[in-house]
Amino acid sequence: NTELTQEWLQNYVDDWVRFYRKHTVDGELASYIPQLTKADPNALGVIIMGNNGMTIKSGDVDATFSIQSISKVFAFIVACMDRGVSYVLNRVDVEPTGHAFNSIIHLEMRKIEKPFNPLINAGAITVTSMLQGRTSDEKLEGIFQLLEKILGRRPELDVDVYESERESSIRNRGIGYFLLEAGVLESDLGITLETYFKQCSIKITVEDLAKLGLILANDGMDKTTGEEIIPRQIARLAKVLMLTCGMYDASGKFAAYVGVPAKSGVAGGIMASVPPRIREEVLPFMDGCGVGVYGPALDEQGNSVAGTRLLRHIASHWDFSIF
Ligand code: GLU
Repeated sequence: NTELTQEWLQNYVDDWVRFYRKHTVDGELASYIPQLTKADPNALGVIIMGNNGMTIKSGDVDATFSIQSISKVFAFIVACMDRGVSYVLNRVDVEPTGHAFNSIIHLEMRKIEKPFNPLINAGAITVTSMLQGRTSDEKLEGIFQLLEKILGRRPELDVDVYESERESSIRNRGIGYFLLEAGVLESDLGITLETYFKQCSIKITVEDLAKLGLILANDGMDKTTGEEIIPRQIARLAKVLMLTCGMYDASGKFAAYVGVPAKSGVAGGIMASVPPRIREEVLPFMDGCGVGVYGPALDEQGNSVAGTRLLRHIASHWDFSIF
């Protein structure tokens, strides 16, 4: 009986959210972008959206927050769709770094001609420079159109976050100058950075993250309409990057303990993709699901502290791991 199952799963998730909300005190709000300190540090919410049509929502699911680094996945997808995968991968690699997202260490290493991967700032800014268009708004259009197709509404920019981000952008400007010197940028540095700050400031919800995660879980296909929104090869590549580099320098641990492709952002969002799995025993969401999490108190690596622990709990309880 579906209704009973739904209620039963809902009770579980409510209990887990209640428990892990206490863990928010172990983390801190990101403060290097001043506007992000306005979030509620004790917030925690999750939405699990299954291919079977079942959706579980628990905790602070009505919060809106900025997409931040999760936008890097979609900038990469749009660049690949516009320019072709090999064009993009000739300019940015697919190797994890083990360093912080905004590290400049590797940019100083002269033997390396391209940034390590599209999910660290150096690689992401390089990818953003490849987006089509002359102005930052034209460049953003591809990302907006893709998100609109998946979410069913056009998301907005959080102008306060954008301005805060632009004003506190010394490190990202530094990275930009390194990239300019290395000759990897395809557009004017100023326009590229404006585009990057805007893409990070797109306002989203936990439900949006679950929807985005679900499309990626299905290799880019919207299963309700049968439409291929993202070409399969590109969606798969995006998931490889999420798995190997998506959780900053905690990606290895996340792969070990949660075992699914995911991407986090410094505003506290996590988007996870659980592909359909074949199992002998019946488990919740074994047809695949997207998971959105929000918990703005972050751990040392910049991931939602309670959100990551909650995901680990759900994933181990319902055997989400792809391995
Ligand atoms: N806008 C942020 C930055 O570039 C994004 C970082 C993140 O979410 O990891 O500093």
